[in-house]
Amino acid sequence: MTERDVMDFDVVIVGGGPAGLSTAIHLANLIERHNAEIDSSGEGEKLEPEICLIDKAAELGAHSLSGGVMDPKALSQLLPEWRTMEPKAPVEAEVHKDYVLWLSEKGGKKLPITPPPLKNHGNFVVSLNKMVGWLGGIAEEKGIQVFPGFPAAALQRDGSKVGGVQLADSGVDKHGEQKGNYEPGGILAAKMTVLTEGTRGSLTKQLVNDLDLHGKNPQVYGLGVKEVWEVPAGQCEPGLVVHTMGYPLDSKTFGGGWVYGMGETDDGKNLVSVGLVVGLDAANPTLDGHRELQRMKLNPKIAAFLRGGKMLHYGAKSLPEGGLYSMPKNYGDGFLIAGDSAGFMNSMRLKGIHLAMRSGMLAAETTFACLKSGDFSEAATKSYAEKIKADWSHDELWKCRNFHQGFHKGLLGGLVNAGFAQMFGGKGAWFSDELKSNAGHTYMKGIGDYFGGKGKPEPEKLAEDGVLTFDKLTSVYSSGTMHEEDQPCHLVVSAPDLCANQCVEEFGNPCQHFCPASVYEMEEKADAKHGIDLKINASNCVHCKTCDIMDPYQVINWVTPEGGGGPNYTNL
Ligand code: SF4
Repeated sequence: MTERDVMDFDVVIVGGGPAGLSTAIHLANLIERHNAEIDSSGEGEKLEPEICLIDKAAELGAHSLSGGVMDPKALSQLLPEWRTMEPKAPVEAEVHKDYVLWLSEKGGKKLPITPPPLKNHGNFVVSLNKMVGWLGGIAEEKGIQVFPGFPAAALQRDGSKVGGVQLADSGVDKHGEQKGNYEPGGILAAKMTVLTEGTRGSLTKQLVNDLDLHGKNPQVYGLGVKEVWEVPAGQCEPGLVVHTMGYPLDSKTFGGGWVYGMGETDDGKNLVSVGLVVGLDAANPTLDGHRELQRMKLNPKIAAFLRGGKMLHYGAKSLPEGGLYSMPKNYGDGFLIAGDSAGFMNSMRLKGIHLAMRSGMLAAETTFACLKSGDFSEAATKSYAEKIKADWSHDELWKCRNFHQGFHKGLLGGLVNAGFAQMFGGKGAWFSDELKSNAGHTYMKGIGDYFGGKGKPEPEKLAEDGVLTFDKLTSVYSSGTMHEEDQPCHLVVSAPDLCANQCVEEFGNPCQHFCPASVYEMEEKADAKHGIDLKINASNCVHCKTCDIMDPYQVINWVTPEGGGGPNYTNL
């Protein structure tokens, strides 16, 4: 049995994204206010809890990525003085113009009106990884112990009671043997564990399955693939927000794209964010979000924004698209779940940062009440769900509760459903209050079925030119991704035989397509049972979790790699 150091905390926050950092900052503020009141009244007991926040990235923000338009509502509640603070909040530009383009292969038309959910006046174009770095500095100033580079490998549990986390070991080779620099991951024991790991968090997934915390619908996801470009001045004005529909996606595949003008950096670069979201509940087993983004950039309307420019950064992340009915039960004995891990995302508005922050604040208020009462049981943490229900974040999610499900009837069905929702307070088409959906991977069709029994067509190949379009390996290079090579593979395939003897025939090995970082390859191997074998290039992984979500057999389990590995996002 491995001996592990144990460190005792009152609160452990797992994940340093907008939700986790909002939990940390708001909790520190509540405690500060509470203690100041006791100082002035001389009555009551001060709180001096030990609070820590851990993150798997080497630096806070290095694994954080968003489309990049933030509604400032939650930030204004968390830090009312954010517009005048020093160092300045890293917002790139205030949105002053927005429109929607309906794209065809060779062109596109501006919609005469911007649908209300896509209106962005008053919002800000941001780089989430910069915003997270800024929030991290504030949390540290407020006394939160912030530990980047420490992934949580497992929850400390006693039945349904959560009592902290166990950190990942380091210094283990690819065969599982200890190296000279072996360090067993310590245990961070805690009265309250707040899970803010992002989409499809590995601890959250385990907990939701083990304790059956599932919502009414299973969660469904999208994959966002994004590039940041430097373009000539004047080519894409700062604060311009363009959303796209149609090409390159067919009418059966959920998704849409964007171009955002980010403005000028301190060193004079004019930046543009361009990206695409594709539904991970697609029927097409060859769907490839990275390839679709490359195709989108070939459209003349999109290419015009990028002409003469240079791609600087690339990244990808999955997002929880299912809405209110797909959110898991988010509280229990000694734990709370917030942010993307809990499904706080408005897919109708393509926004989640403000909801992640707000859920983190409500988790902080619940934790604060638990610290005061000394009660961390489920009876006490239940107030988190009650606070959410009474909050504006719930009102917002209520209005779009059936949005994503409508797209299971195709693009037209989805748009009709969204129109109904707008007019009738979130009811779906035909006044249905609660549209049902299944887990995203179940919508994937077999390759013969999808292509009309015509065998296994190769997906359309793109001749990437290295100027406007890029292959996946070039893109991965632009994400700054690095991992220690000699470590156990963090993509655990529980039934590897399936790949070569069943999946190849049934689905055409979709992992080769849906992974936006060329991690999975089927390689010919003379000594393999079926002549081919799965090769996993784990060091390319950008931690998007798509494989864990979209694998049709659900045999891929993404677990945390050694601390500090993964992408190194900049301006994303
Ligand atoms: Fe995303 Fe999985 Fe590919 Fe990693 S291996 S980049 S988590 S799809």
